[in-house]
Amino acid sequence: MSDVSPTHYSGRFAPSPTGPLHFGSLMTAVASYCDAKSQHGSWLVRIEDTDIPRIFPNSETHILKSIEAFGFEPDAEIIFQRQRLSIYEQVIEQLRQQHWVYACQCTRKMLGSNAIYQGTCRDLDLDFQDQAIRVKVSDELICFEDRLQGRHCSNLQHDLGDFVLKRRDGIINYQLAVVVDDYLQGITHVVRGADLLDNTERQIWLGHLLGYPRLSYMHLPLAMNASGQKLSKQNLAQALDLKQAPLLLSQAIQALQQPAVELDTPSNMLKQAIVQWNIAHIPKQTELAGTYF
Ligand code: GLU
Repeated sequence: MSDVSPTHYSGRFAPSPTGPLHFGSLMTAVASYCDAKSQHGSWLVRIEDTDIPRIFPNSETHILKSIEAFGFEPDAEIIFQRQRLSIYEQVIEQLRQQHWVYACQCTRKMLGSNAIYQGTCRDLDLDFQDQAIRVKVSDELICFEDRLQGRHCSNLQHDLGDFVLKRRDGIINYQLAVVVDDYLQGITHVVRGADLLDNTERQIWLGHLLGYPRLSYMHLPLAMNASGQKLSKQNLAQALDLKQAPLLLSQAIQALQQPAVELDTPSNMLKQAIVQWNIAHIPKQTELAGTYF
């Protein structure tokens, strides 16, 4: 499998509504937006809400309001993954016909939490009804050249084993939905937090099985809190205060180590950030120095 460098640029911001957007999410939105716009590309927004039990009340509304309040202008209508479940089911069916997926009856308790899946159910030919669905991986090194983090590789068979595309409770896994939608939305460039770096080989593998073109990846350093944890909804990072949009925007631009922009309307600030955008300034590491909130 070889890397490709697409010429047209189509980027995206794909938050999960598992909590309100926080400062780390704003950094991702700013970076994906400025990177796309500085290359005359388009920028799309997708709400990744397949994991229905983890949806946090009202966070979807906060995400949509934030996009507007911070001056982002998506180039197409925002899509919601939970309205697209039949598409992911069709892709699983396509993979089933090609014998790339199988049903698995192993429970998390049987497997242990961090165990590498040994393919226990691979050849059992179980019925797909009410079982988890796993995709087969192969014993080969998958590598990609991240625009910030450099070369990153994984042998999925050694590092992970066959992985789940659909859970026993019917929830479509993020790995499948993200790959299918990046393809169907015509995305060429992924810009997101470095917490997702280790997911990338799984996504490249799925894209390869489905015959999709390779994407370009850039994984941003994560903003950390005072306890040394990445800002996340789970760590109760502060929700973005929309009344403070210009100030927060200038802080996010600064955290990405871009030239300062003058305080103005968010839309004008973004315009200035796009003109000045230079990824050579972004720290080439997975965590930012300093603490955020
Ligand atoms: N939905 C994921 C999240 O909120 C991001 C997915 C991606 O950018 O690939 O963490």
